[in-house]
Amino acid sequence: MPSGRQGGARGLMHPAYRGRFAPSPTGPLHFGSLVSALASWLDARAHRGAWLVRIEDVDGPRTVPGAAQDILATLERFGMVADEPPLWQSQRMARYREALEALQAGGLVYPCGCTRKEIADSLLHAHSRNTTLAYPGTCRSGLHGKPARAWRLRVRDGDAAVIRFEDRWQGTQTQNLATEVGDFVLRRADDQWAYQLAVVVDDADAGITHIVRGADLMDSTARQIYLQRCLGVATPAYLHVPVVVNDQGEKLSKQNGATALDAREPLAALNAAARHLGLDLNVAEQPTLERFYAAATLAWAQKMGVR
Ligand code: GLU
Repeated sequence: MPSGRQGGARGLMHPAYRGRFAPSPTGPLHFGSLVSALASWLDARAHRGAWLVRIEDVDGPRTVPGAAQDILATLERFGMVADEPPLWQSQRMARYREALEALQAGGLVYPCGCTRKEIADSLLHAHSRNTTLAYPGTCRSGLHGKPARAWRLRVRDGDAAVIRFEDRWQGTQTQNLATEVGDFVLRRADDQWAYQLAVVVDDADAGITHIVRGADLMDSTARQIYLQRCLGVATPAYLHVPVVVNDQGEKLSKQNGATALDAREPLAALNAAARHLGLDLNVAEQPTLERFYAAATLAWAQKMGVR
């Protein structure tokens, strides 16, 4: 019997897979972000799923005018076009507020009046052997007469604070949020929404099932999983690819001068990105975008065990 959707059949879209690439528009796409974009694209294609793009311009002061359009144009030149119109975090402020209000109603967040300096000082003066850089919880019991600056999520003590997840590339990960992070900020003192809140609300609203991104974000994942549980939304599968480092061993970023990609030479950069991901494309350089993506998708599916 003919049917519109035959879930899982070869060649058709995987109905359960929705992935995304979520660049921050703080500058043009560079080689490090191309690697993340390519990995998320290949994973979506290998699963015959949907690939979305989200412009993470939640952090107003860090957003560079024109950078988002530049990133989208470069992705297109490189042959990566999203299956749905891109989503802009700057247009979703009402959703972040709703999420914070839901957490407020549940008593899961509290206002914090600490300045950075006060937090640093109290950590310096704490003599406990277990002292870490976690927020010490000063404002859990009230603002102590200080004005509210930020909103923090209350992290429960004990086993509830231990987040364990299976990363598809890096293996089992564990973080104790109470001792390693502490109550973390959702609404910043400068009146901006924190990345952790925006990313969790956006991924949940977009029905993202698989997150593929750079390993520099590994450290945020436990916080995001904890927040998903507080908000009662699903936890996607995670895969963190190795970050690209410069000659000094620092992560390539716009801040340390990573150069923009040459949009006239997409194949050279794409082949180099595939090599960084350890993909064996049979020949040194695939000569056309079509052949590159066909070979790279196959190599990714084999490497990651996607069938
Ligand atoms: N916007 C983040 C970045 O460019 C990525 C966020 C994510 O993939 O969760 O580093």
